[in-house]
Amino acid sequence: RAKAAGKNTYQFFTTEMNQAALKRLILENQLRRVLEREELCLFYQPQIALSTGQLVGMEALLRWQHPESGLLSPSQFVAVAEEMNLIIPIGEWVLRTACYQTQAWQAAGLLPIRISINVSSRQFKPVYWLQTIKNVLQESQLAPNYLELELTESVLMEEHNDNNNSIVAVLTELRTMGVQIAIDDFGTGYSSLSYLKRLPVNTLKIDRSFIQDINSNRDDAAIITAIIALAHSLHLSVVAEGVENKEQLIFLQSRQCEIVQGYLLSKPLSQEEMTKLLQRIDQQPLCLLPV
Ligand code: C2E
Ligand code: MG
Ligand code: MG
Ligand code: MG
Repeated sequence: RAKAAGKNTYQFFTTEMNQAALKRLILENQLRRVLEREELCLFYQPQIALSTGQLVGMEALLRWQHPESGLLSPSQFVAVAEEMNLIIPIGEWVLRTACYQTQAWQAAGLLPIRISINVSSRQFKPVYWLQTIKNVLQESQLAPNYLELELTESVLMEEHNDNNNSIVAVLTELRTMGVQIAIDDFGTGYSSLSYLKRLPVNTLKIDRSFIQDINSNRDDAAIITAIIALAHSLHLSVVAEGVENKEQLIFLQSRQCEIVQGYLLSKPLSQEEMTKLLQRIDQQPLCLLPV
């Protein structure tokens, strides 16, 4: 009996494992064809100046319109794309789409707004990226100062890269061209802040996890206050991400945080929705802060 039960258990597990492996195999095969099938799209989340309520930027967020499962978010496929090295062509697609779309909005006479794109450490091969960005900016005709790269702290740490000197050189050249550099998820990565002094960064994006408990967790409130003060003394601007309620907004206002982004202001918008928002702004200046 025991032996039989053991055998059943074993079979149960192999079936489960086979199913997981099969699911993964299917996902990999579908992911391999997302570009040729044109199943990727970008959503655009507004970034709002706290002092005026005006739209000052937008973050491009990748989505996969999956044939069976509907709209997938990056947590459901970016890690797999990285393991398969598909993040390189996908990342190029993101850069190209963001630049062409932003330029198209400007060519339509809408207010020029900066666009931020996310670049993972697996895809940030410095020298290759510099050339790709130059090419795409030239092809799309987008002025470089409307493009911002969101890099995580891990991208900036030498051990993750073939050559840290090339990172400094490449980011410096991008900055000279006018491209903006933001540190994404700031505060969740490395404790060493020395890279802030070596690298030409413009903006710190405070991670959502600190914003979440602003009003109940004194440590988080203290950390945010410190990050904003640090940014200001280094002449960097600060974006708070994941702002979901008014109490968080009031706290950030009291600490002179410049820019906010989160569901309270707006969810990520489809291209059509963002076009409508830009058209509304074109009619009259719009305060996007809640009253
Ligand atoms: P992230 O860059 O930190 O982006 C912010 C994430 O927070 C987005 O999730 C956004 O939809 C979500 N968010 C915004 N406001 C709120 C809020 O008020 N509350 C909550 N709970 N969430 C909020 P999303 O779009 O699922 O993206 C997740 C992550 O995937 C991004 O984090 C980024 O690291 C990565 N990602 C997104 N697009 C790309 C891309 O084009 N390339 C690469 N390599 N990674 C990307
Ligand atoms: Mg980001
Ligand atoms: Mg972030
Ligand atoms: Mg985050």
